[in-house]
Amino acid sequence: MDNQYLCPHCRGHLRVGDCIVFKIRNTKREKGLLLLHPEAGNYTSIKHPQFNFQEGERIDFFCPICLQNLDAAIDENLVHVIMIDEQRNEHEIYFSRIAGELRNYQLSEEGITKTGEYSHMYTHFEMSD
Ligand SMILES: [Zn+2]
Repeated sequence: MDNQYLCPHCRGHLRVGDCIVFKIRNTKREKGLLLLHPEAGNYTSIKHPQFNFQEGERIDFFCPICLQNLDAAIDENLVHVIMIDEQRNEHEIYFSRIAGELRNYQLSEEGITKTGEYSHMYTHFEMSD
């Protein structure tokens, strides 16, 4: 079984098919849905073309199931989700809520460390139009 992604509040499954689903809000307080690909090396994210945000914009992330916000308690610029790997080990995953920013973290016993392993979890998006 592939890695699973859970909301830290309701433990609902955020992964549907090949995508992780988030409810998001841009700085104009417009709301939309954002799909991120959990596969390594896949930097695309999917959103409706009429919902826009800019590179560098600070995006609010919410669980689409319980609607709680996914702000990381440790850093207001990070989003927090739980990942369960194929061995059923649970990991705290943090990624940047700044659109297009390549900053990703995993909580380890030594604290928060930058890791390349989850570098696919970021909110880069392609301007396709
Ligand atoms: Zn939830």
